[in-house]
Amino acid sequence: MKRRDFLKIGIVGAASAAAGLTGLRGASGAEGAGPVYRILGRTGLKVTVVSFGAMLTPEHEVMEAAFDLGINYVDTARRYMNGRNEEIVGRALKGRRDKVFVATKTQPGSISRKDIITDVETSLSKLKTDRIDVIQLHNLTGKDKTRIMEPETRAALLELRKEGKVRFFGVTTHTDQAEVLDALLADPERLFDTALVGYNFKSAPAVKEAIARAAKAGVGITAMKTQAGGYKTEALGKMSPHQAALKWALMDQNVTHAIPGMKDMSMLQEDMSVMGMRFTARDARVLDRYAEAVKGVYCHLCAICEPTCPKKVAISIINRSLLYAESYGALDLARSTYAEIGTASSASACGACEVCVAQCAHGLDIGLKMKRAKSLFA
Ligand code: SF4
Ligand code: SF4
Repeated sequence: MKRRDFLKIGIVGAASAAAGLTGLRGASGAEGAGPVYRILGRTGLKVTVVSFGAMLTPEHEVMEAAFDLGINYVDTARRYMNGRNEEIVGRALKGRRDKVFVATKTQPGSISRKDIITDVETSLSKLKTDRIDVIQLHNLTGKDKTRIMEPETRAALLELRKEGKVRFFGVTTHTDQAEVLDALLADPERLFDTALVGYNFKSAPAVKEAIARAAKAGVGITAMKTQAGGYKTEALGKMSPHQAALKWALMDQNVTHAIPGMKDMSMLQEDMSVMGMRFTARDARVLDRYAEAVKGVYCHLCAICEPTCPKKVAISIINRSLLYAESYGALDLARSTYAEIGTASSASACGACEVCVAQCAHGLDIGLKMKRAKSLFA
């Protein structure tokens, strides 16, 4: 299997940007010396800076190899591969459970005590384990960040912790990350210890600043979507922007670790070797060229365009579904993500009025994306 199933774009880019050349040395690792660790905020968990994003991994052998090489944190969710992803993780954990921290997620719509408890019990059974190290409320946005303070959800989580079924609580966020992170800090009890945050070299400065505030307050930050889409582009020839993008995210010392998706052994090797590498001027140039190539294609999932849409189309979720389908090659995940949207806000509701386009600072042809989503998912 090749490194990434990328979507071809083929635009040549050039611009350069100044980037600090900070080393990736962790709290206890020397450059180039195998696994490098940082502490996941106030959980105190000592995790490898490159951890395992299991979302797209079809075979347990890849995870087993990663765990045997020292990667000690895996992130999954029951909704990935319709539950099969947790089962694959469970198989890889056999005989290794005490060496690896396991993070999974509740279902996006779960709020009630019953739903949260059912989610965790089901995950425990699929993972074939007696405990989850980090249970995360899945996919919070500015609109539903109130889930953080939802009494039933919180009571259920505390009950599960009391029973020893979960250890720490976290949230995940792709959109409105700064709002969600700040909501964690506004919680007087600071119940949630971790945040899995969409963060990459194209993120807005506000996201970086919010990550810094949260990290300072003791929230462990896990970076996801570090590849800014992971699209294939002919502009880079044989060069892959993958390592450069991962190094960029880890260069931020407020980020504890990243969870790149790894489908096969070559991806594992490429990601593992980033631990201990420095972000270089060449990396900055590679990322510039990649950014130029995906300009107008990569959606930042910022949702800034959404309030202007007269039809209330859920543009950022639709674009994330397209990303899963077209770049990650994960049609099941794309469809289940798309299914989160009600028909009234789906791509079918788009009237092609183009009002939203003026709001997008990144020049995306939103109408065209909605059209593609309609034909892919309708
Ligand atoms: S083009 Fe579609 S998504 Fe954009 S504002 Fe009009 S109806 Fe909404
Ligand atoms: S289409 Fe543009 S404005 Fe809308 S979410 Fe994507 S990047 Fe943001």
